[in-house]
Amino acid sequence: DLRLARISSAIRVIRDFPKPGILFQDITTLLLDTKAFKDTIDLFVERYKDKEISVVAGVEARGFIFGPPIALAIGAKFVPLRKPKKLPGKVISEEYSLEYGTDKIEMHVGAVEAGERALIIDDLIATGGTLGAAIRLLERVGVHVVECACVIELPELKGRERLGEKPLFVLVSGE
Ligand code: IMP
Repeated sequence: DLRLARISSAIRVIRDFPKPGILFQDITTLLLDTKAFKDTIDLFVERYKDKEISVVAGVEARGFIFGPPIALAIGAKFVPLRKPKKLPGKVISEEYSLEYGTDKIEMHVGAVEAGERALIIDDLIATGGTLGAAIRLLERVGVHVVECACVIELPELKGRERLGEKPLFVLVSGE
């Protein structure tokens, strides 16, 4: 697919951000390329439009960029999965481990109902810790997670292995 090559080349790689030794995949340059940005959304919409998905759950922060246009196009609602203490209502939260310590993501109670079918979206999967926690969070309230989707996968970090049996769909591979 020619669209994937264009998407891949629109993503900028920045060395030593946010810390020395890290090669940061920067999707803000993808958002500047109107064709590549549209192709990104279209590819996800083509894949999910007939899958009876009622919820697109986006992971803070860049899942909030890609999730809403997909949700609107497939007729699903959008649910933000946020960093701790950002959501004003009652929340349920799920912890996950980082290299040093732990982190959490939260979702509003009542945002989804048991039995709904969800797609979880983020810009990038690295170790898979974040998406793993997102899956557990939705499954705890009885939602069926159909698939996780990301623009970029860093395959060397083997994030897929942290998602168990859950399918992961990615557009491009980062180094
Ligand atoms: P994981 O939990 O290790 O899979 O890390 C994924 C999370 O970290 C996602 O929410 C990403 O947005 C963020 N992340 C990690 N590395 C990068 C990067 O190179 N570019 C953009 N986001 C990143």
